[in-house]
Amino acid sequence: MERRDAIVIGAGFAGMYMLHRLRQLGLSTIVFEAGTDVGGTWYWNRYPGARCDVESLEYSYQFDEALQQEWEWSERYSSQPEILDYARHVADRFALRDDIAFSTRVQSSVYSQETGFWTVTTEEGRCCEARFVIAATGCLSVPNEPRLPGKESFAGEVYHTGRWPHEAVDFTGKRVGVIGTGSSAIQSIPLIAEQASQLTVFQRTPNYSVPAQNAPLSPELVQRIKARYEDLRERNKLQVIGFGARHPRNDGFAMEMTEEEREAQFERHWEQGGLLFGAAFGDLFLDQEANSLAAEFVRKKIRSKVNDPELAEKLSPDSTIFCKRLCADSGYFETYNRDNVTLVDINETPVESITESGVRTSVAEHKFDCLVYATGFDAMTGALSRIDIRGREGRTLKDKWLEGPKTYLGLETVGFPNFFMVTGPGSPSVLTNMLPSIEQHVEFIADAIAYLREHDLREIEPEQSAEDAWVEHVNEVAQGTLYPTCNSWYLGANIPGKPRVFLPLLGFPDYVAKCQEVVARGYEGFRLS
Ligand code: NAP
Repeated sequence: MERRDAIVIGAGFAGMYMLHRLRQLGLSTIVFEAGTDVGGTWYWNRYPGARCDVESLEYSYQFDEALQQEWEWSERYSSQPEILDYARHVADRFALRDDIAFSTRVQSSVYSQETGFWTVTTEEGRCCEARFVIAATGCLSVPNEPRLPGKESFAGEVYHTGRWPHEAVDFTGKRVGVIGTGSSAIQSIPLIAEQASQLTVFQRTPNYSVPAQNAPLSPELVQRIKARYEDLRERNKLQVIGFGARHPRNDGFAMEMTEEEREAQFERHWEQGGLLFGAAFGDLFLDQEANSLAAEFVRKKIRSKVNDPELAEKLSPDSTIFCKRLCADSGYFETYNRDNVTLVDINETPVESITESGVRTSVAEHKFDCLVYATGFDAMTGALSRIDIRGREGRTLKDKWLEGPKTYLGLETVGFPNFFMVTGPGSPSVLTNMLPSIEQHVEFIADAIAYLREHDLREIEPEQSAEDAWVEHVNEVAQGTLYPTCNSWYLGANIPGKPRVFLPLLGFPDYVAKCQEVVARGYEGFRLS
């Protein structure tokens, strides 16, 4: 059996940096990665229009000053190919590929109480043991394949936005059906519509979307930021969502403004573009009435963009805005003004089945050459639940998390010593800029391992009381906001049968402060042995 000091699962941004840090500590490490290259999310999500919704100068590593100075981003929001190039560049620069086993999917990770080692087995029959296992498996890495009757019978081309082929897909002259209207659909629909002869979108729930206002980056702006990069990074760490410090954020309350002031403020944030529309006022995530005003502002914009009022109405959400992740688009609503684009509201005419030639709703059969599932992911716990992870006494993680994930700090869970998660459930993760969140977790894990070694200790595992209190805390924070008021993937509500538990923790700075306090108090809440 192979043996390493540490095994990392996944070679996305989390796994890559984890490997780098563990090597710096002198730990022999192997990374198992299912794909043929690094990049994680950005390796798999290659659908047309895939682009980050956090600005490129911020959605990048900050651990190495030379790296952040030398890499050149071309647009305000980088496209998937550019982000993947960046990941490859980082892999080359730090020679990471030497310790990554590609095309290798982890099947199980089993702890031995006698030896204190974890044995990791891959689908390819590789078997390796190590004291430390770090799951860098991503928050949005397992596609949600909807269970639609007759799904297998469709004879045309089938795609999932989260598993897009590596070869170019050409929709020219084809009849295309897209199922779903989340971020992935909202980014890809305008581009698919330009190629397809006919595009039909099946919408279950309309989504709020603001213009991304993407544009090439000016050299002056890049120079300005790079001259004081650290300053921007530090200011970002003080933001609740961990990014956006260089744009105005208004902590004033929408409810305390006159209508004119409010509209002007919304308009400024709308024009600025992107997710920071939510920073227009301080009460938009907390107060239903304030939230409704933001929602109505966006609905007005949708009505102004879509020529057919009836269609505009169908595309207008009536739920709490920001409760699902806000989408950022480039011409999404305008696309419905095209003659070759049709919207099918499946609340009015439900999908009955997928047929050999297309989609049958309660009133018609829509024939397609290609079907695109833009149906999202089994978020945050999906990747972990697909690995057979067994801790003390052979207990599976799946069994432990039957009623929802339980972690301490989103980093570890009781009964699974030395098994770490990067941006696991119960950590800020998806409610922040992922890159700094990843860096903070990786550094916490690397420091904890170094601490164990320095103090001649073998294991770190949360105490039950600390985990219980943390689960309660994550819930309490969510309950103080409007987040739990809709059926989002944050709550697991998009996956039939998944327990309804708010998965991430809101508030990056408080979380980081808590982690620092835990360390300062000798890893308070963890049992070191
Ligand atoms: P998503 O937000 O979960 O959207 C999935 C869509 O598919 C929803 O419209 C959903 O409808 C629909 N759907 C799911 N199952 C269905 C079924 N059985 N029948 C009909 N419709 C069904 O997934 P996503 O668009 O891939 O985005 C997920 C997350 O990834 C985002 O929230 C974001 O965090 C990240 N992302 C970011 C970007 C970006 O802008 N940078 C781009 C893509 C993804 P319901 O709403 O009714 O469930």
